[in-house]
Amino acid sequence: MILILKNGVTPERVKALCAEISEKFGVQPWPSEGAAQTLIGLVGDTSGLQQSVMETLDGVARVIRVQEPYKHANRAFHPGDTRIVVGGVEIGGPRIVLCAGPCSVESEAQVCGVAADVKAAGAAMLRGGAFKPRTSPYAFQGLKAEGLLYLKNARKQTGLPVVSEITNPGQAELFNDFVDVFQIGARNMQNFELLRQVGQCRKPVLLKRGFANSIEELLMSAEHVMSGGNPNVILCERGIRTFETATRNTLDISAIPVLKARSHLPVMVDPSHAGGIAWLVAPLSKAAVAAGADGLLIEVHGDPKNALCDGKQSLSPAEFAALVEVLRPVAKAVGRDL
Ligand code: PEP
Ligand code: MN
Repeated sequence: MILILKNGVTPERVKALCAEISEKFGVQPWPSEGAAQTLIGLVGDTSGLQQSVMETLDGVARVIRVQEPYKHANRAFHPGDTRIVVGGVEIGGPRIVLCAGPCSVESEAQVCGVAADVKAAGAAMLRGGAFKPRTSPYAFQGLKAEGLLYLKNARKQTGLPVVSEITNPGQAELFNDFVDVFQIGARNMQNFELLRQVGQCRKPVLLKRGFANSIEELLMSAEHVMSGGNPNVILCERGIRTFETATRNTLDISAIPVLKARSHLPVMVDPSHAGGIAWLVAPLSKAAVAAGADGLLIEVHGDPKNALCDGKQSLSPAEFAALVEVLRPVAKAVGRDL
């Protein structure tokens, strides 16, 4: 439920109203002051609240019942686009952010080399997995803490903020020292303990959509993080499971405009895991940019054929550089910069 306040309502009245709401109705008021209008979002179980009663509160002009079960992530509650700044890089603004790097950190030389290459080509952020959730227990599981150290060194050398996947709530302290953005992987999108943990952190969270999860479930997972106190969530569409077998997953292009309509949070797209094949990365990236994505997460490896993880879908640094040039006119055509 959202209360739209009367024009010119004083900050003292807003404060008093919030106190009255939490005391009388047992829900949490979240005031949001806009240029023209002040709103109060009510978080908690609002099912028993009557619209007509709320409209009689002093200072309230109108009451909207929000059907969606997510409030913090809801655009109705926060009409403007949220912009998240990570180490000087703005996500959700006019510039499309490219985050590139290897699926997994394999060595210091590997990740520092790729970081320098993707930076030179136009990437603003570096990705790299250190703790790898793999389908097979026999596959490479990542360099773990050592990998995080190499990522930190790559950041030191290039200045690129680092994104890496956290797989366990117990890793939060370690990650806090080494990464700029906590990535929640598709397999952990509904790991509520993990969501609660990153909700208590201040660093931005890149939340990937589970491959069998709906858009609403993705937004509810964002809600878990945001209601825990961390408003800095970046949503990421990375392909979902369908009956199609020609590609690793099916990139849900519609998720981009739907997420942008329902939520104010920035939306990134991972064309690498969506298509699962290197040559599909360019067409899927173009489609994502055209559909309104705020950024792309792309796997790049210095030697894709010998990568320890996801080499088939990884671009070489030269292929990544070529892709950036192909994307520039697409971004321009939809009024964005790259
Ligand atoms: C990844 O980004 O390396 C990854 C494992 O992605 P996802 O969680 O989307 O499968
Ligand atoms: Mn990967």
